[in-house]
Amino acid sequence: MRAFFKLLFRNRLAAAGAVVMALVVLLALVTPLLPLMDPDITNTADRFMRPFSEGHLFGTDHLGRDLLSRLMWGTRLSLAVGFAAAIIAAIIGSAIGIIAGYFAGRTDNIIMRFVDMLMAFPYILLALAIVAALGPGLMNALIAVAAVNIPFFARNIRGITVGIAHQEFVDAAKLAGLGHTKIILSEVLPNVVPVIVIAMSTTIGWMILETAGLSFLGLGSQPPQADLGSMLGEARSALITSPHTSIVPGFMILVIVMAINLLGDGVRDALDPRLKSGALSRPTATTQIASDRVAAASANDNAILSINNLQTQFHIKDRIYKAVGGVDLDVKPGECLGIIGESGSGKSVTALSVMGLVASPPGIITGGSVIYEGEDLIGAPYEKLRSYRGNRIAYIFQDPLATLHPLYKVGDQLAEAIRCHHHVSKTAARAKAVDLLKSVRIPNPEDRAESYPHELSGGMRQRIGIAMALANDPDIIIADEPTTALDVTVQAQILALLNDLRREHGLAIIFITHDFGVVAQLCDRVAVMYAGRIVETGETDTILADPAHPYTKRLIACVPELGGGRRQLAAIPGLPPVVDKLPDGCAFAERCEKCRTECTVGDIPLRISGSRAVRCLYPETELARETA
Ligand code: ADP
Ligand code: MG
Repeated sequence: MRAFFKLLFRNRLAAAGAVVMALVVLLALVTPLLPLMDPDITNTADRFMRPFSEGHLFGTDHLGRDLLSRLMWGTRLSLAVGFAAAIIAAIIGSAIGIIAGYFAGRTDNIIMRFVDMLMAFPYILLALAIVAALGPGLMNALIAVAAVNIPFFARNIRGITVGIAHQEFVDAAKLAGLGHTKIILSEVLPNVVPVIVIAMSTTIGWMILETAGLSFLGLGSQPPQADLGSMLGEARSALITSPHTSIVPGFMILVIVMAINLLGDGVRDALDPRLKSGALSRPTATTQIASDRVAAASANDNAILSINNLQTQFHIKDRIYKAVGGVDLDVKPGECLGIIGESGSGKSVTALSVMGLVASPPGIITGGSVIYEGEDLIGAPYEKLRSYRGNRIAYIFQDPLATLHPLYKVGDQLAEAIRCHHHVSKTAARAKAVDLLKSVRIPNPEDRAESYPHELSGGMRQRIGIAMALANDPDIIIADEPTTALDVTVQAQILALLNDLRREHGLAIIFITHDFGVVAQLCDRVAVMYAGRIVETGETDTILADPAHPYTKRLIACVPELGGGRRQLAAIPGLPPVVDKLPDGCAFAERCEKCRTECTVGDIPLRISGSRAVRCLYPETELARETA
């Protein structure tokens, strides 16, 4: 509930609507207590007095009645009728919808055909017909407005109920022997209530307008009783000579309906589960950067991309998740650097931080720098980053189906990726797209360019993803677990392809994975990440042969070897620490067999020896310790 209000009030317009509505409702509630004149007392001597006249703040109407008082009482009545109609329509309509949707079959057919018949009439005509049959009067107008809105609720709620009635938890309740009433009340109803509230919040404004419409036509509230519609109706004849008599109730209707609709939209957005999961908190175009960020200088001049002491955090409520806690990485031109670590170790966040792609909020880069061509990409203007994204530095993500647009042909998507950065003709881009498909070894590229993503296999789609990354001949490709979703044979093909492309194009690749087998196949160097920090780096061969960090050793021990004897595959016990409360000392300490008391205090530095570095006080291999 608190989360709902927070989300609701994050939407400024909805908050404004809520405040205005609260004021109007409050005024309507206290109207009887205010020292107002009697709204029905006529005084023909004081007809059509202008606003701000003595004793009449809003002036008087054609019978000399005080407009302020009539407005307040009228608003009270209009609101009451509108809300009552909405609640009646919602209750009856939803009940019909739930029953039809839940019992389905013949019950559904009979009920819904009847509802369809109601819907077949233009609905203001239907309302008029109902009032004509029942006779004019506010109560009958209320009934008419409620009645014409019942089909709307019934249809809406039936649709939702049909979806819910076939879900496992309802079946489970049936199996448990619950009766229909019990199931409807305890299983179905709670799931449709948000939809009912949404439907109500978006229609209540309409219902107030419809009631006012009927009163305007003289079919709703009867003289001398004031509601907003009848006030407008009575003022019609004096519209030109005394416009204030129309403007006062007209403006009130405008304010109420606007406020309700803004609030209603906000309620809908806040209750909609898809929007609730973050669609409303629009991330900024680049990751937010802390104003007190200390930009670190590059340590390596011949690197094409140099990540220095990068720190990326997620600030969620009052917690700080240090997803990346000071990472240093260098990639040389044409080199393939592997980043390996368990899930959640901060690999993806490191990769996304490079181009400012971490979602903010909650992401925030609090320190470090990413030097590319002598410039710091962190804090670079958005236009600059945009011109680099997909052009000089390209990404390949794990799930190509999520990155490809389902409704466009893959050839067109590739062409778009090219035309986004280069001014070339459509045909030229198209030809290049086919070339790209050929270069990622897709058979029959001309035809495949005409395919939609869903027509391709997983391996093919990932090839399209690679082709798209290659589209603008980037210097660097950052591949975030591109083969994790693929089976082993396709994975091997994709890795071989990436390796070939690297040599053909002289690409630098940052390859993220959790599989040392993949690293062994592809990477020149590897960096092992744990809890947001690099714990070991070095040439792939030396690390594989001679891991220094106990964590690296355990990771390597997880890779099965074909024909490699009867070695036991040991899973690493325990779980990585949660990054919002990292332990003091070595983050791996509590899972490490060799842990000593020194390991759990202070900061364990990264000790560098030649091309290797390790963050461990008691490394597995003596070599690193001696030369440190
Ligand atoms: P991986 O190494 O598996 O790619 P990630 O880089 O995705 O790991 O995540 C690193 C840490 O950052 C994890 O602990 C994760 O919970 C946290 N994290 C990632 N994205 C978000 C986010 N949008 N909001 C909050 N925490 C996040
Ligand atoms: Mg990841």
